[in-house]
Amino acid sequence: MRSPLLTKVLALALLASTVGTAAAKVPVTGRRQFNLIPDALMRQLGESSYKSTLADVKLSTGNENSQAIKSVGQAIAKAANQKSYDWEFKLIQENDTINAWCMPGGKIAVYTGLLPVVKNEAGLAFVMGHEVGHATAHHGAERLSQQLAVLGGMGALYLYLDNKSEMSNEQKAIVVAAMGAGAQVGVILPFSRLHEKEADVIGMMYMAKAGYPPGESVDVWDRMAQASGGSGVPAFLSTHPSEDKRQENLKDWMPQAKKRYERNKLSRNTQTTQWTSSDFGGSSGGGGRKNNDDSSSGSGGASSGGTRR
Ligand SMILES: [Zn+2]
Repeated sequence: MRSPLLTKVLALALLASTVGTAAAKVPVTGRRQFNLIPDALMRQLGESSYKSTLADVKLSTGNENSQAIKSVGQAIAKAANQKSYDWEFKLIQENDTINAWCMPGGKIAVYTGLLPVVKNEAGLAFVMGHEVGHATAHHGAERLSQQLAVLGGMGALYLYLDNKSEMSNEQKAIVVAAMGAGAQVGVILPFSRLHEKEADVIGMMYMAKAGYPPGESVDVWDRMAQASGGSGVPAFLSTHPSEDKRQENLKDWMPQAKKRYERNKLSRNTQTTQWTSSDFGGSSGGGGRKNNDDSSSGSGGASSGGTRR
């Protein structure tokens, strides 16, 4: 059985390979990557994953926390400067889930369980920037391209789709996941260490450009590690593997990030908002948010920026 989406995958991927669009450049780091998958296709996969994921969760809306996701998200979106993205920012009401993601095309979700870990707007800006970095660096498409290459390219995919495949179950799972058959590109499969470090750097640059102090990035990973000492590994770390050198890598890029921050820093203190785990301990919707900031700027984002819908 071949779905219309899968047929489109084949057609577009073949087209991409014949017109030679396989070499692309990653923003910020400038790394050259192998990418067979057209952006439009990844965005379509992202859209369908986004819709199917949101259908199964409870959203937290109309409160200060959901507003914070939106305003910080808009500031990061502005920094990422992706004209073709159709940004959306959702807060999912799951206090036990420490996670966040950004689908290709700019659909972002943050789980309420992440808020006590990021602790403040600057920490939130870093994690959202990191997620957006995975998307703008086309990590999902790159991973899919690599998997297709490993599997013998499109020939293997044809075989699989015709049910004549000798592929292992694991290989099939990779293709199905990557093809977005209800799957979550960039969510289910863990990113590589290279992709994690790259998303860290891009995220830190985005947060700095959006006016948030980049030093907070290092502290967020400290808190993430602490959170994993409790009841199991956070979902975030299972899809975003950690490593020892991660913070060193951030520190290597810190001088550049600080320069950007100095040019763009917000007039108000972005760390006065404090989310704590006690805010999210109960089953009450929304959770709490303490804000000592009496800034009159209104928006949590950088001035009037961000893509608005
Ligand atoms: Zn990541």
